[in-house]
Amino acid sequence: MIQVRVKPGVEERISGFFPWVYKPEIIGYSKPPQKGDLVVVRDFGGKFLGYGYINPSASISIRILSFDKEEPINQELIRKRLEQALEYRKRLKINSNAYRLVHSEGDLLPGLVVDIYGEYVVVEFTTYGMNRLRDWVIPALIDLLKPRGIYEKTDEYVASAEGFREKGGVIYGEVPEEVIIWEYDLEFIVNIPQGQKTGFFLDQRWARRLIRSFVRPGDECLDVFCHTGGFALSMKKAGAGRVIAIDISELALETAKKNAGLNQIEGIEWINANAFDLLRQFHKEGRKFDLVVIDPPSFAKNRASVPNALRGYKELLVRGLHLTKPGGYLAIYSCSFHITREHLLEVLASAGKDTRRQVRIVAESFQDLDHPWVLQMPNTLYLKGIYAEVL
Ligand code: SAH
Repeated sequence: MIQVRVKPGVEERISGFFPWVYKPEIIGYSKPPQKGDLVVVRDFGGKFLGYGYINPSASISIRILSFDKEEPINQELIRKRLEQALEYRKRLKINSNAYRLVHSEGDLLPGLVVDIYGEYVVVEFTTYGMNRLRDWVIPALIDLLKPRGIYEKTDEYVASAEGFREKGGVIYGEVPEEVIIWEYDLEFIVNIPQGQKTGFFLDQRWARRLIRSFVRPGDECLDVFCHTGGFALSMKKAGAGRVIAIDISELALETAKKNAGLNQIEGIEWINANAFDLLRQFHKEGRKFDLVVIDPPSFAKNRASVPNALRGYKELLVRGLHLTKPGGYLAIYSCSFHITREHLLEVLASAGKDTRRQVRIVAESFQDLDHPWVLQMPNTLYLKGIYAEVL
């Protein structure tokens, strides 16, 4: 295996289980590596640090899969990691047949995401190196899960940035366009090929459950950025009265309506609109709700877009506070790790000041437990939610 030596000092971080080596940190190779080659990472003096795969041209050049000298990367290790991932999910007793089985670095399988939708599996490769290991990954998944079908949903942009061509589509068995999954007492249609992400926002399961705590029978609720209706339907299950749900995606709303039908839920008004425009209009009209949920897409894909994203959050929160009845509740989420929990709290405080509404924080949620994060990489705790009572 190719040996890679890193600059003095870098070993501090790696021996503390940080799983990445950046390009400028590499001093030399025992022989020039090819993209995706398996490598042994050693410190300046030659001491073993870990086993990983390399993409010499990428800025994150090496991703480490094993910090144990006795545990080199091979087919057995990949299988073991997948078994461990499955064991952990079983332990969680998730109240759904849809869950994230593999959360990349969070499961010591960098570059791999695996989501389970009942009898179907969706895989996503995000690095060249993991894509090269696909012939170890896919057969192990088939053997462990005995799925009816596997769909690959590797992002074209991510693949081309890493320098590989994504396969995409059904790669094993058969996968219908729509799969029905259940979560707690609700059923949802997941459109795997056309839906956003791998088809469903599994990471918000915790929040969808928690939101029910704040609904009283008959409450008027607003679900902004509703996607396929996760929050709106949960509010209804908790006894909400009239619910208004907004999304810009027609496909998401079509599916949301079908989801309402599937669960025999009535009384949700689905509105296809730009949330910013509609909230402004609702504010002008003086509309008020007992509960407002705002779950926007990622406004900050990189650090440079943080100021803009914060302006977006400020606008949403100012409108949201205006729309919340005194004594009502407001929930806000960020799924971008660049927009932190502290950012959300700061913007909420400033929106409260501007609107003269005092808030009291009553709860917080994060990505659900099937999305474990990496202690050494705090930014892998990407999803945050703040729940405020608006006085
Ligand atoms: N709450 C959802 C997930 C929301 S994801 C759930 O639990 O399933 C973010 C959603 O915002 C997506 O469905 C996307 O279509 C929608 N969206 C993006 N920009 C928007 C805009 N400007 N106005 C309204 N919806 C928007």
